[in-house]
Amino acid sequence: MKQHSIQKGTSASSSHAMTRRQFSALMGIGLASVSLGSLTGCAQKHEEHTYDVIVVGSGGAGTTAAGIAAQHGAKTICIEKLPWQGGSSSIALGTFYGSGTVQQQELGITDTPDDLYNYFLKRGAEHVDLAMNRFMADHAGETINWLREDLKVPFQDTIKGNGTDKVQRGHMCKNSAYDALSAVRTFADDQGVTFAFDTDARSLIVDNGRVVGVLAHTPMDDVIYHAKTVIIASGGFCRNDDMIQTYCPDYVGVPTEVGVGLVGSGLQMGLDIGAGFAGNGGTNGILFCDQDRDLTALISQTCVWVNKNGERFVNEKAQSHDIYYKVHHEPDQHFFQIQDTKMINKLTEANKLSVEKGLKSGIIVKADTIEEAARQIGADPTATAASVAAYNQIIDSGTDSQFNKNLTSCNKIETAPFYISTFGIATHGSFGGFDINTDFQILNEEKEAIPGLYSAGEVCCGTFIYQDYPAGGCGLNFAYTSGRFAGANAAEEALQA
Ligand SMILES: Cc1cc2nc3c(=O)[nH]c(=O)nc-3n(C[C@H](O)[C@H](O)[C@H](O)COP(=O)(O)OP(=O)(O)OC[C@H]3O[C@@H](n4cnc5c(N)ncnc54)[C@H](O)[C@@H]3O)c2cc1C
Repeated sequence: MKQHSIQKGTSASSSHAMTRRQFSALMGIGLASVSLGSLTGCAQKHEEHTYDVIVVGSGGAGTTAAGIAAQHGAKTICIEKLPWQGGSSSIALGTFYGSGTVQQQELGITDTPDDLYNYFLKRGAEHVDLAMNRFMADHAGETINWLREDLKVPFQDTIKGNGTDKVQRGHMCKNSAYDALSAVRTFADDQGVTFAFDTDARSLIVDNGRVVGVLAHTPMDDVIYHAKTVIIASGGFCRNDDMIQTYCPDYVGVPTEVGVGLVGSGLQMGLDIGAGFAGNGGTNGILFCDQDRDLTALISQTCVWVNKNGERFVNEKAQSHDIYYKVHHEPDQHFFQIQDTKMINKLTEANKLSVEKGLKSGIIVKADTIEEAARQIGADPTATAASVAAYNQIIDSGTDSQFNKNLTSCNKIETAPFYISTFGIATHGSFGGFDINTDFQILNEEKEAIPGLYSAGEVCCGTFIYQDYPAGGCGLNFAYTSGRFAGANAAEEALQA
């Protein structure tokens, strides 16, 4: 028997049809779920559509899921709250991490899914979901092959050794991640997917415990989308301070560079109908000039960096994702980069202008001694000078006994005046979201699949990634791989219904 009451947050009675005003009020407060019965009783007319599969979010995960669902024969719509495909997938650098690829074979790189699985185990997989990590190890390379060989996404000629494993697995799009996103968009268009932009999913429609649609809001109208299955691919929640406080409290106050739509509303829709949450408080991110992002380009790994205590704290040439975690644990989550006049003179004209800008705003200081520059910027002067002296000795010796940095292109800091710049970090994604199984069904708090509800991408990556990012390229690959499988599984279930 169908429910005839709004499920949460309201006591609206079953037998009363909703007026248009009530419906709009419901949309306005973003109520997370309504029963089908309440909707079918709506007195006023509003837009309604019926599909086999609805995908929420048009990032790499959602667009891939939609394209694959349609390829399997499902009538599919992808709804996106922004007027464009503006998720993190549209602004990402474009590295995909995976093993056993055609490109690795072409380059003579020996690697297998077993090797990748063993690497994931070293990066915390045993704390999360082994089955999901095995699944990703087995299918990540397949996704890169699909993008490169089938969809003809252009990739760079070399593969990077990301993470802490020596094996080269970082397959980089030729220009940026948009190469992949535009290719899957073309693929989805070719399969007949309908895209609805400016369409903000607000609530899931539930009938007898089964998800059967989505309520959405557009600038023109409220829309009811009926469907046999729904895939939530709404990305992470770095732009939602309350969710960061709740799920990633260590990262409160850290600026973010993720897509503007990533406020966690898709996640909230699912949580409010009883979806379980899987996550361990992690994020990934990058080094960043939080006071003026234009100055981020001045961050140089050939320089020496110290913390507020004036101590050198990291191999400046390590993976920037790993340095992110180190900076996150430093006082104030900032670090100071020290350069001398010879280094500044070698910068490009554009970067020299940025230095001038930084000097005016105080993000960069300049002084005749290291101690004075450190004092001005707020680092311990004596310790900073000692760190620079030790670094100069390291350059002279040709070996970094402290952090094992490769010293190629690194020089002594000796010509006054000296420059010290302040940099920080920004998040690039949140690790945590829907608890899922390897069919990409969303699980409830009792670990049972919620009928009709699937997920893909960052909104459900907490089963794959523990606290720290295993390697650059795992976020995009998880988005596209989960999209492929969520799309196929959701279509199969929809077509059987
Ligand atoms: C600057 C930057 C660089 C990065 N570089 C890399 C990289 O090189 N390699 C890598 O592996 N990872 C990288 N990442 C991480 C990676 O981009 C993400 O993990 C991945 O793109 C997530 O894809 P997604 O499809 O799950 O989410 P997204 O691409 O963020 O898409 C989610 C979409 O859902 C929409 N949406 C949200 N809520 C709703 C709603 N209620 N209704 C309708 N639509 C909604 C959003 O507007 C958005 O368009 C980077 C991240 C950033 C920010």
